[in-house]
Amino acid sequence: MSVKSIERTPSAYYNPLLIKNLLDNPVRQFPDQEIVYGDFKRLTYRELGERIGRLASGLAGLGVKSGDTVAVMDWDSHRYLECFFAVPMMGAVLHTVNIRLSPEQILYTINHAEDDVILVNTEFLPILETIRERIEPVKKLVLLNDTGVTPATTLEIATEYEALLASGDPGHTFPDFSEDTRATTFYTTGTTGLPKGVYFSHRQLVLHTLATRAALAGSGQGRLNQDDVYMPITPMFHVHAWGVPYIATTLGVKQVYPGRYVPEHLLSLIQCEDVTFSHCVPTILQMLLSSPKVEETDLSRWKVIIGGAALPQALARQARSRGVDIFAAYGMSETCPILTFAQLKPHMLDWDEERQLEIRCKTGLPIPMVELRIVDEEMNDMPHDGVSQGEVVVRTPWLTQGYLKDPRNSEQLWRGGYLHTGDIGVIDAEGYLKITDRLKDVIKTGGEWISSLELEDLILKHPAVAEAAVVGVPDPKWGERPMALVVAKPGQDLEAAAIRAWLQDFAERGVISKWGIPDRVLFVDAIPKTSVGKLDKKAMRQQYIQAIQG
Ligand code: AMP
Repeated sequence: MSVKSIERTPSAYYNPLLIKNLLDNPVRQFPDQEIVYGDFKRLTYRELGERIGRLASGLAGLGVKSGDTVAVMDWDSHRYLECFFAVPMMGAVLHTVNIRLSPEQILYTINHAEDDVILVNTEFLPILETIRERIEPVKKLVLLNDTGVTPATTLEIATEYEALLASGDPGHTFPDFSEDTRATTFYTTGTTGLPKGVYFSHRQLVLHTLATRAALAGSGQGRLNQDDVYMPITPMFHVHAWGVPYIATTLGVKQVYPGRYVPEHLLSLIQCEDVTFSHCVPTILQMLLSSPKVEETDLSRWKVIIGGAALPQALARQARSRGVDIFAAYGMSETCPILTFAQLKPHMLDWDEERQLEIRCKTGLPIPMVELRIVDEEMNDMPHDGVSQGEVVVRTPWLTQGYLKDPRNSEQLWRGGYLHTGDIGVIDAEGYLKITDRLKDVIKTGGEWISSLELEDLILKHPAVAEAAVVGVPDPKWGERPMALVVAKPGQDLEAAAIRAWLQDFAERGVISKWGIPDRVLFVDAIPKTSVGKLDKKAMRQQYIQAIQG
């Protein structure tokens, strides 16, 4: 196709889309706006800007240069927000380490991402101590410490975060560079057991921020505006807390970072800091609403996006009864993450509560710049009739362009030029997507993935096991929990406790997370297989879920 390129005046500046462009305005326009870190610290946007400069120049003093990777292991904090900006703005890559992975998986991600420096909260030092000998090469460690007490550790600490900032330059200048520079990376647990790295450029994060901000702007239901107070309740290591800290910063709103998630503390922050906007997985909301403290918390001004798993209507109803403006969103690690929001269209605002609730619990409408299709195996579009199912495939400017150093899985993700989500859904006549099933063989419990294949591998290592399969079964608290089906070798008298103890041993050695251990282990004569001899997970789910639910 022949097109006419724009002409560039020799002196014209072709402004790359960089994360630093998101920061300058709010720091200038809302210098006195507050950022709160739990009960530990309060700072202003002015200080945020200065601390970002100090952090970058401090890191540069430690030897960090463009192209290096800086890892963070922290709870949600103002420090994390500072890293969201300072590290990419230096031209370095921010690796947000998923501290909920097992120590072995964390080790894998640190080595795979080739981290140069690790900023580590005192609480996570024991994890690094167990894997230190196998971290290649040895990294410089910066301590993030809220206790005021120097921790006893055998690790060599280069410096402490506040000391690093004190030595840095608040007026540090950040260079321009290509907008395609990698800004962030983090890992998602896939079907194979080994975490897969996804990555996002400055351009992608800027466009994701602007488009998501546009989708949340305005006066309808489910909005984030300048008078809101924002508090994330999805971890900052997980897809940049869905990118909302970037959006909140561009808006110049008050931000509250809660540290470790403790339901009573979260509720007290909502109450004391007047939090009006959050996002979380269903399990966390369930915990908040079940806490006795909820009785003394006014949630009537609270807007909350639920994602990471489907929003159950019962939970939405419970939240609505407390006046919460609740609605679902959908996306995945690979998609930066936002693809859809289940906001009500203007004409639906007159509908009765139950009809509205149904919309709030759908998977949502694609936000600006998202092309979302449901397709059959030949990539043909399925009708938008609310019943025809297809795989959700997408294009938008902010999708990971592959998995880090993994061309085979990257091609698989992007086959046919669309990113394959592995989710099955329907689209109704109003354009709302509803996820109905999943192609990928993984289990999501409390917002975290468990690889069924890895669990199967470990169970099969048990000397008395002939065959094993692991499937996810619905759970009212965690969304899903793994269930193992086991065929014992002839003559072996196996019990569920033996399998659980076997897996417990792997959990204690850091191979799997402790929540990977199935609650239920069923002994069966044979495991259902497909016509080509593969484990038939769909059949298993149907058969055994029915059996469990009686
Ligand atoms: P993650 O990469 O951990 O963010 O997980 C993304 C996956 O979580 C998606 O591919 C879906 O399988 C699931 N998911 C996220 N949001 C929703 C939703 N609103 N409804 C149903 N499933 C969801």
